[in-house]
Amino acid sequence: MRRITDINSFEELGIKYEIQKAVKEIGYESPTAIQEKTIPILIRGADVIGHSQTGSGKTAAFGIPALMAVNPSHRATQILVLCPTRELAVQSCGEIRKFAKYMHGIRTIPVYGGQPIDRQIRELKSGAHIVIGTPGRIIDHIERHTLRLNHIKMVVLDEADEMLNMGFREDIEKILSFVPEKRQTALFSATMSEEILAITHKYQTEPQLVKTKQKQLTVSSVEQYYYEVPRGKKTEVLCRLIEVNNTKRSMVFCNTKRQVDELVAQLNARGLSAEGLHGDMKQASRNSVMAQFKSGSLEILVATDVAARGIDVDDVECVFNYDIPLDMEYYVHRIGRTGRAGKEGKAHMFVTGGRQYALLKEIQKYTKSTIIHRAVPSLAEISAKKSDDLKIKVLNILKTDNLKAELEVVDKLLIDGYTSSEVAAVLIRIISGGDNENEALSPVYMPDEYSRMPKAGKGMARIKLSIGKTSKIAAKHIVGAIAGASGIPGGEIGKIEIFDYFTIADIPAHMRDEIVSAMRNIKINGKTTNVEPIK
Ligand code: AMP
Repeated sequence: MRRITDINSFEELGIKYEIQKAVKEIGYESPTAIQEKTIPILIRGADVIGHSQTGSGKTAAFGIPALMAVNPSHRATQILVLCPTRELAVQSCGEIRKFAKYMHGIRTIPVYGGQPIDRQIRELKSGAHIVIGTPGRIIDHIERHTLRLNHIKMVVLDEADEMLNMGFREDIEKILSFVPEKRQTALFSATMSEEILAITHKYQTEPQLVKTKQKQLTVSSVEQYYYEVPRGKKTEVLCRLIEVNNTKRSMVFCNTKRQVDELVAQLNARGLSAEGLHGDMKQASRNSVMAQFKSGSLEILVATDVAARGIDVDDVECVFNYDIPLDMEYYVHRIGRTGRAGKEGKAHMFVTGGRQYALLKEIQKYTKSTIIHRAVPSLAEISAKKSDDLKIKVLNILKTDNLKAELEVVDKLLIDGYTSSEVAAVLIRIISGGDNENEALSPVYMPDEYSRMPKAGKGMARIKLSIGKTSKIAAKHIVGAIAGASGIPGGEIGKIEIFDYFTIADIPAHMRDEIVSAMRNIKINGKTTNVEPIK
């Protein structure tokens, strides 16, 4: 966790252009506190003690300077990262490879127990400039002479406190005895025990302490909730919450510009009114988005923390922490956008896995607040909520309006022998616009999962329409819209699958482009619908 930094860009940290390019592509908007402070020290060649939490962005804090220190034309292992678990080794390796995307010839290899050693030996033999591993397996490789540490320039002890808790102290000391004395050493730890200090004393040279622990912060009385969400389902859950709460004005926070763009596209594809706000946008577009949001014509504003910093919006119905913030103060700023002026505010957070629980706990600790667990609303609950809303509407009209003319119509139907319940039921169906009420709930496909759906039949192609069950459409509406716009006979249209927020239709492949173009800006059941081809 970090505080809001003074340095706003990676350019200011003096890192290589190729790495800057990769970081930009990943979508990081600004360095975290640990990155801002650690990167320049490590680039200078000094030792660092990083007193920081999990999730603070420390992989980039050491990974970027490590990449800058590597000489790609020298095949020897030059950087050694020791970490407590296989999960962390794999994750850090993945991150560092991403930062190295535009640097040529740098090999980063993870080695850990549990994976067949032969494969690791082969990988190491092909040359590994950066090796990231768990202590036991690293010792194994040293003893087999499959890993040589005599050219190491930098050692990183990641999550050092965890490694000591797991009893790796002797192993770490043994490994360090194989590394040249003239080297850089960076140590990261969430706690600073006597034992950690003893290690730094013995193995580091004039280390600089970088501390990013937060002071405690208090938050206003916003109701805070979290949801356990499978990875890849966050957008689905966001849509369900918006739907079930009938939210008309919300802010959604993401950690990267890329995520903002992706999410806006996904929400728009599901027919929701959403726009993004991030650092890469021109001032004119930002102004336009803000004007729409303030006027109420835009319902969902998706933003990065940096972009949201400058805007004066503090009366949103609820805030969604789509990504858990990397900075404690960001969390406080985010949720402070709701619950002002005596209004009830709500903040929702999505937790996708083990490590994120640690962040959740930390946020609660530092904000001295409780974030309550809630179950993701089911499709059945959404449907029940809609029935309740309809009931309330009916009761309100019964209480307030004069229904003389309508009662005459009903009386005529009763005279014809229909019961009042039948008449009411038909009217409800007409209002809901659906004849698919009893259809089984379809599986939820995220946009990137189309590829897992069965392929279109021979000679057929697939199009996606940004309208679905939540807009009460039925297959006949889709057939009517496609046939009406393009002139193709309804019988030539293939399978139609209606999901909650979108529909997939099979159409003759040779007509695909013509149909997509004929359906530009089409309205189906009164709703402007986007139609696009999918692979
Ligand atoms: P770490 O503490 O290195 O495990 O990082 C925690 C998470 O934050 C990872 O998902 C990183 O990709 C992400 N992250 C790291 N630095 C930044 C940054 N400057 N901006 C946005 N996300 C970041």
